[in-house]
Amino acid sequence: MPRSAARLNGLGTTIFTEMTALAVRTGAINLGQGFPDTDGPPPVIEAAVAALRAGENQYAPLPGVPALREAIFEHQRQWYGLEPEEVLITFGATEAIASAVMGLCDPGDEVVVFEPSYDSYTACVAFAGATPRFVTLRPPGFELDPEALRAAVEAGAGRVRAVLVNTPHNPTGRVLRRSELQAIADVCIEHDLVCITDEVYEHLVFEGEHVPPATLPGMAERTLTISSVGKSFSVTGWKIGWCSGPADLVAAARTVKQFLTFAGGTPLQHAAAAALRLPRAELHSLRDDLRAKRDQLCEGLAAAGLSPIVPAGTYFINADVRTDAAQWCATLPERCGIVAIPTSVFYDDKDAAPTLVRFAFCKRPEVIAEAARRLAALG
Ligand code: PMP
Ligand code: GLN
Repeated sequence: MPRSAARLNGLGTTIFTEMTALAVRTGAINLGQGFPDTDGPPPVIEAAVAALRAGENQYAPLPGVPALREAIFEHQRQWYGLEPEEVLITFGATEAIASAVMGLCDPGDEVVVFEPSYDSYTACVAFAGATPRFVTLRPPGFELDPEALRAAVEAGAGRVRAVLVNTPHNPTGRVLRRSELQAIADVCIEHDLVCITDEVYEHLVFEGEHVPPATLPGMAERTLTISSVGKSFSVTGWKIGWCSGPADLVAAARTVKQFLTFAGGTPLQHAAAAALRLPRAELHSLRDDLRAKRDQLCEGLAAAGLSPIVPAGTYFINADVRTDAAQWCATLPERCGIVAIPTSVFYDDKDAAPTLVRFAFCKRPEVIAEAARRLAALG
């Protein structure tokens, strides 16, 4: 492998790519990578077709097509009372995260990452030449320990530049409480840190309330808020995301983004605007549908003798398999025709959750029912 690629922590192929390839190879039910097996809402699909036919097929403006930018300003205002100064459309939340971290962090900087974490965070920190400083969320509750956060920032001795937050949280399914977010805000304000917050599951909250960190006092001016349409609208292959916040933070991300991919996905940007403008009842029904799937898989896991940790949001349930989860998952396709992911892959500290497995429940009821039957037959 070329040296520059090898330097990236020996990252190799992502677990999602590996697990989906395993599912395809073995014909197993794929409860690994988080993507739905049904299409997004028909009006959203139709908006994409209409934009393609209307000749919206050339480069978008770098900041994004005006219709989508306006829809995001409106969305932030109507859902959360936020008035961001700027918005930038990106190739999914993934590009927003990469652009933000590379645009805001220099080599030698440190970034607080709550582990377990979505895999691209530490990769992007490495791209920037920065170093992650992990704060560990431990099962079964995965609560944030404010003292551990404070200690991590203080141990950084002035090198910590940013805190990367994710709520609702992948892979734990937790929706961070206001008090936990306030603890993050207190540390950010006290140490003059930037908050980069990934809220791609913002509309997939089954219990409790999604609180964007930017809504906390003193945080709007230091927070870059990231989201995308993929998860909320069941169109993960569209890769239309965005970041919003203070003009200087968005400009930092834009500077990087313009050289990563410039600007594209024009027809899908128009369709994303239509998605964000769907009536609230439509979003609630997508969420309620997903909650029923969560409950169905939780029941199936419990009936199979695995102990699910019921998630308040996202696509994911963690369950305790009471043995080495990595080995359990490695043989699962041949034992029962299911692919799932050991939660330890999302941790730097591999001993923090050695017996947990992450299952995606964003699948049709008949697929979940069949998965439950197969798990029960494991004995
Ligand atoms: N953040 C989290 C926490 C995720 O789970 C994912 C996967 N959808 C992403 C970011 C990437 O989002 P996108 O597909 O919009 O790039
Ligand atoms: N967010 C998805 C998950 O956690 C995967 C996205 C990806 O494949 N990078 O399963």
